[in-house]
Amino acid sequence: MGYNLTKRVLLTVIVSALCAFGLQAQQSSDRDSIDAKYKWDLTEIYQNWDEWEAGFAKLEKMMDEVAALKGTLTKGPDALFHALKLSEDLDMLSYLVFRYPQFHRVINGNDQNATAQFQRVNILFSKFGTATAWINPEMLTIPWETMKQWLETTPGLEPFRFDIEDLYRQQAHVLDEEKEKIISYYSGFNQTPRTIYEDLSTADIDYPTVTLSDGSEVKATMGNYSRVLATNMNQADRKTIFEAHYNTYKANKNTYASIYNSICQRDWANAQARNYNSTLEANLDNNNIPVAVYENLVNTVRENTAPLQKFTKLRAKVLGLEEYHQYDGSIPITDYNETYPYEDATKMVLESVAPLGDDYQKRVATALQGGWIDVFENTGKQPGAFSAGVYGVHPYMMLNYNETMNYVFTLGHEIGHTIHTMLANENQPFSTSSYTLFVAEVASTFNERLLLDYWLDKTDNPKERIALLLQAINNIQGTFYFQSLLADYELQVHKLVEQGKPVTAEVLNRIMKDLFTTYYGDSAVHDDLMDVVWARISHFYRVPYYVYQYATCFASSALIYDDIKAKTGSEKEEALDRYLNLLKSGGNDYPMNQLMKAGVDLSTPAPYLAIINQFDKLVDQLEVEINKL
Ligand SMILES: [Zn+2]
Repeated sequence: MGYNLTKRVLLTVIVSALCAFGLQAQQSSDRDSIDAKYKWDLTEIYQNWDEWEAGFAKLEKMMDEVAALKGTLTKGPDALFHALKLSEDLDMLSYLVFRYPQFHRVINGNDQNATAQFQRVNILFSKFGTATAWINPEMLTIPWETMKQWLETTPGLEPFRFDIEDLYRQQAHVLDEEKEKIISYYSGFNQTPRTIYEDLSTADIDYPTVTLSDGSEVKATMGNYSRVLATNMNQADRKTIFEAHYNTYKANKNTYASIYNSICQRDWANAQARNYNSTLEANLDNNNIPVAVYENLVNTVRENTAPLQKFTKLRAKVLGLEEYHQYDGSIPITDYNETYPYEDATKMVLESVAPLGDDYQKRVATALQGGWIDVFENTGKQPGAFSAGVYGVHPYMMLNYNETMNYVFTLGHEIGHTIHTMLANENQPFSTSSYTLFVAEVASTFNERLLLDYWLDKTDNPKERIALLLQAINNIQGTFYFQSLLADYELQVHKLVEQGKPVTAEVLNRIMKDLFTTYYGDSAVHDDLMDVVWARISHFYRVPYYVYQYATCFASSALIYDDIKAKTGSEKEEALDRYLNLLKSGGNDYPMNQLMKAGVDLSTPAPYLAIINQFDKLVDQLEVEINKL
């Protein structure tokens, strides 16, 4: 099916975005001087560009063959099977043809040939998308009763059952041809608020330059603001850059509010046009996620902010700050700068996964042996880190390893994605092998937790233990607590629009202020300027109702981890099997159902309480270690 291709390629981009670990400032080196075992072996995909060219030609031919099947799908189950099988072969090949130039560009952005070939692939994919836009509508002309019968009597269609059923499920919100045509006239216009937001926040934004206490001048850009907050030990300097940075957004608060209002108005119009009761329902329907999941998340976190406040108070105490502000939340509380050579990191990551069994550990050893990971930074290489599957070969991981503790965890995180992909590909037919973002970050965060516990067991050094605990605590604070706060805000504003109530800068500021009060209580001084934070969170304007997934992934992973850890004997084996089966299940069901089989019901408070309790315990442990210093 044509739409699968787009779905997969899109997933790649999203997974990479989630795994973006920020720009790591370090010395660039010449790629040729790096040992081959620390670099990708792309010859496993294609021996050379000539082979890739042949693959490209073959893909083009297959696309023509699929496009030529228009009008045949309704002829019977065999004709349908023929079309789906051909699309599947095409999808498999597209991985190779897409990844080869993509990866060459990742390791060297200046590679002109790779850039040109990558553009050719993208143009080909987009032409194919247009040429096969008829597939879903044509399939849907087959009545569900007929399709059901075909599925029951044609074993070849079984691997495609889930995708087909999902297509029919969503049909309830597809309008008739004439109405769809009218809606399609607005598709470009619907992207306009986002474009205006991006222009206002990038091209037209004018950050002021401030003078810090050491006399240095800094422009209050996004990057400099984060850097000063994370490294400058002088609170007055942090206040200075915070005020300069936030006042830039405050200056345009009415324009930002109007843009956000237009996004919520658009979402509500689209939801109503497609027969949904709310914008939230419309948005979650794509993955068949019940509205209760989202509501449970925001409500449970709201009621359990005490551990966050405990941590904030502890930070204020250790830092010796009389008044603690949000801009004091990123500076380190100890001076721990130990480095970890790559060979040590691989050894620790390998040993840490032992609880997942021999088979799992052997897979990790294979992934670490060389050729799968592009380890070090080099001139022209893309920043950040990711794991990306290449169906039929193996997943490839990209790092910019810099010997920090944070990066040892990044390696563990990406290994989690890689083994998940391997297990899904081996245990699922191609059509249900790729998993959603919703379960993706469960596998990666699970391995981070394994590494944390392994490492804490290994070291008595209080400073190292503090650094480890903070690594985990900061992760939960940023990924679970803060994203839940943002998710809460999105839901509140969309609801106002659904109720026909006004959305102004004043209204948005008030919602944010209430949320910060609920989350932080009296543990931090509230700066009114902070209220306008809604203007600088680009996710709100780019992908509404997206950030909550960071929080649900973390919660699911915590609950599964606690469950395995708490059990013994055969019960432990069973819990472990349930988890491995989740990884093996790829995308063979809706993520809610997959997680349910692994023992996680996201429509109840249990998973959210699991991560909150974990956070609470980590903060207690941190306090114990700090007292030892
Ligand atoms: Zn990730």
